[in-house]
Amino acid sequence: MPNNADLFDRARERIPGGVNSPVRAFGAVGGSPYFVERANGAHVWDVEGKQYIDLVQSYGAVIAGHAHPSIVEAITTAASKGTSYGAPTPGEVTLAEAICDRIEAVDRVRLVNSGTEATMSAIRLARGHTGRDRILKFAGNYHGHADMLLAAGGSGMATFGLSGSAGVPAAAVADTVVAPYNVVPELDDSYACVIIEPVAANMGLVAPGIGFLEAVRSECDRVGALLIFDEVITGFRLSHAGAAGHFGVRPDLLCFGKIIGGGLPIGAFGGSSEVMGSLAPDGPVYQAGTLSGNPLATAAGMAALDLLTPEVYGQLEATAARLADGLQSAFDAAGVEAVIPRVGTLVGVFLGRSTPGNYDEARTTDEVTYASFFHGMLDRGVALAPGAYEILFPGLAHTHAIVGQVIAAATDTLADL
Ligand SMILES: *Cc1c(COP(=O)(O)O)cnc(C)c1O
Repeated sequence: MPNNADLFDRARERIPGGVNSPVRAFGAVGGSPYFVERANGAHVWDVEGKQYIDLVQSYGAVIAGHAHPSIVEAITTAASKGTSYGAPTPGEVTLAEAICDRIEAVDRVRLVNSGTEATMSAIRLARGHTGRDRILKFAGNYHGHADMLLAAGGSGMATFGLSGSAGVPAAAVADTVVAPYNVVPELDDSYACVIIEPVAANMGLVAPGIGFLEAVRSECDRVGALLIFDEVITGFRLSHAGAAGHFGVRPDLLCFGKIIGGGLPIGAFGGSSEVMGSLAPDGPVYQAGTLSGNPLATAAGMAALDLLTPEVYGQLEATAARLADGLQSAFDAAGVEAVIPRVGTLVGVFLGRSTPGNYDEARTTDEVTYASFFHGMLDRGVALAPGAYEILFPGLAHTHAIVGQVIAAATDTLADL
């Protein structure tokens, strides 16, 4: 029987770090990763046959749970008709219509293959549409790995040109300004756009303060900059109408990913007809993709959105509340300092005294304790994300009983810390 350690050794021989996305290598928590053999609903099984309650859920992409029958059927049916054509298909029209129906600010949407492609393309469109170069992002917000968005976190307005990765030339981030989250930035007419996670979910969970998103919207309007909501996590998770609908703030462009592919690779960006009209072939901003609008991904995504009726968001929020309250009580009872922040259906874990409001505060989370908590949970059959800055992803498959098992595992783990 294959085992995790042998597979990781083999993987490291042929794949840098043994993984195809860095966090999976367990560098932040120590130890070596479990290799997944299969998954169903709220559970994954590793190659050694060990079962875990999965709160990673592909970082939220499989909100309906693993191998949901209607998504599997949609993919199987689509695959039997061919996997990619390089010509338009009815499935991509249906998915585009479904996105536009649910998200009021989206009149037109372009499908791509990842969240990274969505934000990268939305930025190019914002620059092309406004004829301006400068962009603003918030410290601690993650928008995928395009060069100009890999500007360092780190606080302070006007942190120009600080690259967050080797290989990103200073020139690539020279027009990227990084500002602290939850402080309304002061813009001028050199700005093409502001891109923001409307609820920050890549520095743990950080909620936008009351009125913050509205004020950013006004500031963009004042100088004619576009507002881009990166809803790759919040889209179709926070509410039927995403974060834009939840907060009642209308961005000019929105980016999606994760959920809209039902677990297959996808991304999308959309907005008003006017702004989207600047995109090729109608307009001068070039953007393309050999596999974009892929028939398997659109079929899986549509099957996922069909399951996400307005009614299920109440259930998702109840699950998130039960999980957050239960974990908070478990930490409190054990005397381990923690705040379990929650915004609707979104839940994070912050190991510190008070709820963080920005990246500097979020980074004070106790990573050493997180690593111990993570391994204690894993030993007890609960898989959390292997990093202190990821959120929890309860979905439709996490029943009350399963949430109860997670909380029991947490109580047990924390008693041992
Ligand atoms: C995951 C994520 C991305 C990047 O999406 P990929 O599909 O990994 O390229 C962008 N923005 C946010 C908010 C994300 O969480």
